[in-house]
Parts: sequence; structure tokens; C-alpha cells
Amino acid sequence: MRSLKRRQFLKTLSLTPLSLAVFLPDVNAMDCKVPHPLMPPQTQFQGQCPVCGMVRPMWARTWIRFNPYQGVEQVCSFHCLADWRVKTGQDPTDIMLAVYHEPGKMIPAGSAFVVSGSVAAGTMSPVSKIVFDNRTTAAEFAQRCGGDLLDFSGALAAAKSSVLKENKMIKVRQIKKGKIVEPSETDRCPVCNMVPARYPYGKCQIQIKAGKTFHFCSTQCLFAFMGNASLYVDPSNIDPSNIDPPNIDPPGEPFLIWVVDRNSGMWTSGRTAFYVIGSSKVFGPMGYEAFPFNSIAEASEFAVENGGTAVNYGDVAIEKIVPGWVYPLKIFRTED
Ligand SMILES: [Zn+2]
Ligand SMILES: [Zn+2]
Repeated sequence: MRSLKRRQFLKTLSLTPLSLAVFLPDVNAMDCKVPHPLMPPQTQFQGQCPVCGMVRPMWARTWIRFNPYQGVEQVCSFHCLADWRVKTGQDPTDIMLAVYHEPGKMIPAGSAFVVSGSVAAGTMSPVSKIVFDNRTTAAEFAQRCGGDLLDFSGALAAAKSSVLKENKMIKVRQIKKGKIVEPSETDRCPVCNMVPARYPYGKCQIQIKAGKTFHFCSTQCLFAFMGNASLYVDPSNIDPSNIDPPNIDPPGEPFLIWVVDRNSGMWTSGRTAFYVIGSSKVFGPMGYEAFPFNSIAEASEFAVENGGTAVNYGDVAIEKIVPGWVYPLKIFRTED
């Protein structure tokens, strides 16, 4: 039911993907620096990292896939894999890694050789982790381009040890680059018309590729909007000429979703947050709420203290947050 509504969201707000040339530049595995990220985006690669929001068409060289757990099956990098491990407290299984110099090729983690800390550009971390499918090439690369030769678990352990420190830097950069937009006093919640800037633990946002950010006062309003966006936004207000880079939204979802971790007050991805719904003791700006947390451990702890259930993003819907929820018949609230 909910995914149908999200598809409706896409129909309303998203646009036809532009067709792009899909030729990868011919690269040699001994080149220390090859183009990364891929520009223009290579749309034969599909997927988005739910932890940081980056897209596989650009970051395919460091892409990682695994058995789905808690609704997640792919990430952009060792950094985001380590971060997802922190959030879930669980190790992923059946991990497949992209070969850096042949990003169309995915190999099992157990057969990968990883050069960590070379001069090659990495993803989400200043210490790049470059995957090879054979030891000889990896060792030669490390000799020429610097870095240490590790196996998969060594590389993941290195990523785990720096993930929390790197996350702080990344958040600052994401705000600077406009990937996360702080709401201003003039931004209004499109659902209830309140001022999200006044709710430092309630504020949350979605961004669509058409160059638009919607700020909400609370996750209650966010999920109400996600379930029925066309009720709150007039589609004719979305300007397709603003699309840059070209539209590579994942189907049926807005491009970026950010919520605030209730413990630290820091922005975190809405798709990899854990939420407590059904608390009978604590309420948010709109009353019933899906309280976001950075990890399932923190969400569970809150649920034990305050009632409610800790769930992942895929299990949240407005009908579960607010008992007896019914949408109004018609509202268009445009902030432009
Ligand atoms: Zn990522
Ligand atoms: Zn609101």
C-alpha cells in the first residue's frame, strides 16, 4: 500500500531520466589515479547508498552489495558499510565488492585484495580502499601508488576504526555542499505550516532532484507527506530546468531524506535511521511521532524506557505513527 503511494509520489514529482553516454573510459589497473567519481554519471549502474545518499552511477568503482538486512542491500563504500554495521550491530553476509578499475565487475569479498591508503581517490573517506581481484596486480599497485595491501576483513576493520570520526567531518561537508539544508525561519512545514527551524529534534527534510528541499517540523509530517505528496504540493511548482546533475533518482523515492538523531541532535539519513513508534510517554511537535535514532541499539533503549517499538525505515508509515490516521480531502500548501 505504502509503496504504491510512494510510486505516486514519483509520478507527481520526478521526471524522465535523461539518456547519457554509457562508455567508461578505458583505464589501466596500474593507473594510480583514474576518474572517480564517474562524470557524467554512468546510468548503466543503478542504485543509491541509503547511508549517505550517493548514487552508483557516479560512485560505481567502490560499490558494495550484500544480503539485504533491515531493508538495506547496498552501500557506496567501505565507510558506509562500516557505518551500517554500527547502526545495526550486525555483520552483513554474502558481500560483493566492485573492482575499482572495472566497476561493472563485482567479486565476493573473500576473494578481494584491497589497497588501503594509496593516492587513488576513495569514497566517503580520506583513506581510499581500492579493490582488486588478484593479489599480483594489487601488490604492484600498492608499490606504485602507495598504501597497504589488506584482505576484506582488514579493510573493513580499518573502516570501522575511523567511521565515527569521519562521520563528523562528513556531516559538516554535507551541510556546506547543500546535501543537508538547515531550515531557516521562513521555511514552513508543507503539511502543518509550522516552522521546522524551531524544532531542533523534530526537524527533518526530503530533497528531490528538481532542486527542491521540503522541510518538516516532525517525522509525523514527513511520513504523511511521503504517503501522499500530491496532496501538499502542486506539481506544476516543480521546475524541471533546475535538474543538475541529470535526474538519477531511485524509482519511487525522493532523492535524499534527512532526520535528526534524538540522542546526539545530529542529522542522519532517514533511510538508515531506526524509529520508535507507539510511545505512550513521549510526544513530538505534532503529538504522535516516529522518533529517529542513529542506531537500533539506541532506538531499542528508548523504547524500553518510553514504550513503543523500534523499527527500521521500511516499517514506518503514517498510519502506524498516528492511530486512525485519515488524510484531509484536499490541501495545496505552496511555500513559493
Ligand atoms: Zn554511502
Ligand atoms: Zn509539520
